[in-house]
Amino acid sequence: MKQTKLQPQFVAIAWEDAGEKGIPVTVRAILCLRHRREIGLQHPTARGWGQFGEGCDLCLRHEVAQPRVRAPIGGTGCRRR
Ligand SMILES: [Zn+2]
Repeated sequence: MKQTKLQPQFVAIAWEDAGEKGIPVTVRAILCLRHRREIGLQHPTARGWGQFGEGCDLCLRHEVAQPRVRAPIGGTGCRRR
């Protein structure tokens, strides 16, 4: 009855982004489902290449970038800037 399908949560994605000098660069990152959607909307060229990871690069970067802002208990911390 119960079908357990193991879905990898973090998948390696590559997409093309405009570089600072107008030269397209290929960006690679391991992303969670949420960020895969975000990147997919922003970059139509985004595609996975069948690799999996253990953490989302963008989520981790976000944590590192804002070490002093801590999410309150029961909140996501996304409301404040
Ligand atoms: Zn993420």
